[in-house]
Amino acid sequence: MKKHNFSAGPSILPQEVFKKASQAVLDFNNSGLSILEISHRSKDFVAVMDEARALALELLGLEGKGYQALFLQGGASLEFLRVPYNLMKEGGKAAYLETGTWATGAIKQAKQFGETIVVATSKEENFSYVPKKYEIPSDVSYFHCTSNNTIFGTQMKEFPKTDIPLVCDMSSDIFSRKIDYSQFSLIYAGAQKNMGPAGTTLVIIKDGILNKTGRSIPSILDYSQHISKESMLNTPPVFAVYTSLLTMQWLKNLGGVDAIEKINETKANLLYKEIDRNPLFKGVAKTEDRSLMNVTFTLNNPEYQEIFDKMWKEANISGINGHRSVGGYRASIYNAMPIESVEVLINVMKDLENKI
Ligand code: PMP
Repeated sequence: MKKHNFSAGPSILPQEVFKKASQAVLDFNNSGLSILEISHRSKDFVAVMDEARALALELLGLEGKGYQALFLQGGASLEFLRVPYNLMKEGGKAAYLETGTWATGAIKQAKQFGETIVVATSKEENFSYVPKKYEIPSDVSYFHCTSNNTIFGTQMKEFPKTDIPLVCDMSSDIFSRKIDYSQFSLIYAGAQKNMGPAGTTLVIIKDGILNKTGRSIPSILDYSQHISKESMLNTPPVFAVYTSLLTMQWLKNLGGVDAIEKINETKANLLYKEIDRNPLFKGVAKTEDRSLMNVTFTLNNPEYQEIFDKMWKEANISGINGHRSVGGYRASIYNAMPIESVEVLINVMKDLENKI
């Protein structure tokens, strides 16, 4: 029986996507060949890549607005490094907002390239909130932020209004909510939460921002080379790109980002309401910064952990243990998570209260 999968990533994808992806492994487009055995230069696969690149821009409202979409490899972690390599001027500076472990990872890589200014951090409170008051220096090449902090369950609701190019790691909330994506010069997101399986990273780049650093960049790390080769500089991760395309098609059929945002709000509101109502639980993230994607909470009395863990396992729930740096629980309720699964979790929380 299919489990209610609250895993933080790799994570749930629509059941329909799993089915179509499985079918393509056996026989892609009735070609008598598997998606895994055809050339990435074949007409059939080039069509997949072209559609995936176009659909990513369309879903974000960036079609025809001077952006390029790439499907690269190396995870969001490689973009931590590729971003400063391509955007930080030789001898220049960049500014970062430190809102969680992944932001810290991005900062660490940027430091290899030049002066990296951390404009604000919430580290002293174990990243339970998103700092709001900070200034971005006027002489930095770009400002980097993380829209959703997967581990801590916080999410940026506002982005700074600035002339400095904005770069955002959207790994755990891409395609989940309606915002003005054209405020960003560069967006990146590992596929394995809201988009597809692990193995590819979506990178969206605004025209005109590259080739200004004075650095010589090795080809595989150079965004312009990937753009000029239409995301086929080398063999792309064909299965991850294809499965991401299927998920984006699913989202488009559902009504796109506008429609999923409403569903995501409904799911998150239901769960936060129960956390706030049920005297046995408390939320981890500051209320105003709560994520619609990763809901972090703890038991007020750790003595109930054993019985609660037994109850949710019996309810066929999987993947709600919190990250080791936070403890407690984390319910990741990405786009593909059905509302019914959220209700199952809420009912277990209510049952625990009735039992005790
Ligand atoms: N950024 C965020 C916000 C993440 O949640 C993660 C990991 N899940 C990463 C970056 C690192 O991604 P990857 O493992 O694809 O390198």
